[in-house]
Amino acid sequence: MIFNKEMETLPREEIEKLQLKRLKETLARIKKSSSVFREKYKDIEPDDIKSLDDLKRLPMIEKDELRRAYPFSHIVSKDVDWMRMHMSSGTTGTPVINVMTKNDIAQWGEIMARCYYSAGVGANDRIQITPSFGLFNGGFGFHYGAERIGAFIIPIGAGRTRLQLKFIKELGTTAITAIASYPLRLMEVAKEIGFDFRKTNLRVAILGAEVWSDSLRRRIESEMNVDTYDIIGMTETGGVGLGIDCEAKKGIHIWEDHYIVEIIDPKTGEVLPDGEEGEMVVTTLTREGLPLIRYRTRDMTKILSKDMCDCGRTHLRIDRLKGRTDDMLKVKGVNFYPSQIESILMKYEQLSPYYNIVIEKIKGKGSMTIVAERRNGFNSEQLEKLSNELYDFLGFHCHIQIVPEGTLERPQGKAVRVIDKRAK
Ligand SMILES: [Zn+2]
Repeated sequence: MIFNKEMETLPREEIEKLQLKRLKETLARIKKSSSVFREKYKDIEPDDIKSLDDLKRLPMIEKDELRRAYPFSHIVSKDVDWMRMHMSSGTTGTPVINVMTKNDIAQWGEIMARCYYSAGVGANDRIQITPSFGLFNGGFGFHYGAERIGAFIIPIGAGRTRLQLKFIKELGTTAITAIASYPLRLMEVAKEIGFDFRKTNLRVAILGAEVWSDSLRRRIESEMNVDTYDIIGMTETGGVGLGIDCEAKKGIHIWEDHYIVEIIDPKTGEVLPDGEEGEMVVTTLTREGLPLIRYRTRDMTKILSKDMCDCGRTHLRIDRLKGRTDDMLKVKGVNFYPSQIESILMKYEQLSPYYNIVIEKIKGKGSMTIVAERRNGFNSEQLEKLSNELYDFLGFHCHIQIVPEGTLERPQGKAVRVIDKRAK
């Protein structure tokens, strides 16, 4: 089932022609505005852009530039057209505001509708939206898309896990949308109260806003008896819905008529060839309030393919996000992402899905402890196997502390898994 078949199956040359046209329009829009970014592009005119390759000549935008522009200096549209704002969750420092116009909200609805269809969700579905409706963009994004496809919406918002489960069962929810770690809480409470997902109509979970490993994905799918879809997006680029995977599960489609994605070397800024891992840089093509040219997302991924997918869509596919450049850990000289540790831990079904990675400095040296929760049946043999597997991956020995299930804190919003006690 495809929402906008013509657009989603456009041949590559047509996509690129449209991208070039829209890129020039985006640059023109910024240059005509009083945004702080006008100055940044003063040396280049829209007509200087002859091909998409010229995109490389445009300077990139960093998150800090958006922060410094707080509250509205980066906004391009005239304030009479402003309809609503969302704000990045930013746990540290000044937040980033995105102001949306009427057209931006319509664009959001369109890409989110495509995301739902890509996940096999349509007009006959009952969608329970569990992210919050507020400054965080998640709740509203899922809402607009669900409205556009004509589904039945259950806008419950965040928290109240028992009520969530009650609704899933009693209201006949078929699709749930959530922050990627929230299903863990649903699964845990379900176990406490003897709730059986197999006795509900739930079949799809659309999850995002956090990096979640393939092994966690398999666990959610088997315990909740659902098919999961990985959705990406961020406040800066216009909210959730930048891309999602499809039934082929061969990468995340980026809606290329609305966005251009490049992968760069985070150190040199150089654009990398397809297939090489680096930082994702996003250019928006249709946004009005906050158009962005070459925005550095800090998300690490790679372009998997620009060929037509098994689902029939032609929009390029990127790999599932591995982590953010600033999430990368370095312990005893070894670089790795927390999601890589999660991949190993989640293979052990006798461990709960909650864990912490604690890093500290002992006698001047980095030391790492993984705190994991034991479920029934985790024995010393498995502990040894886990320890060996972690050693094979890391190349150094880390401490493993096994605690009873329920010991670690259950986060309300996004999961906090790394506790780095080293002075930065
Ligand atoms: Zn596909």
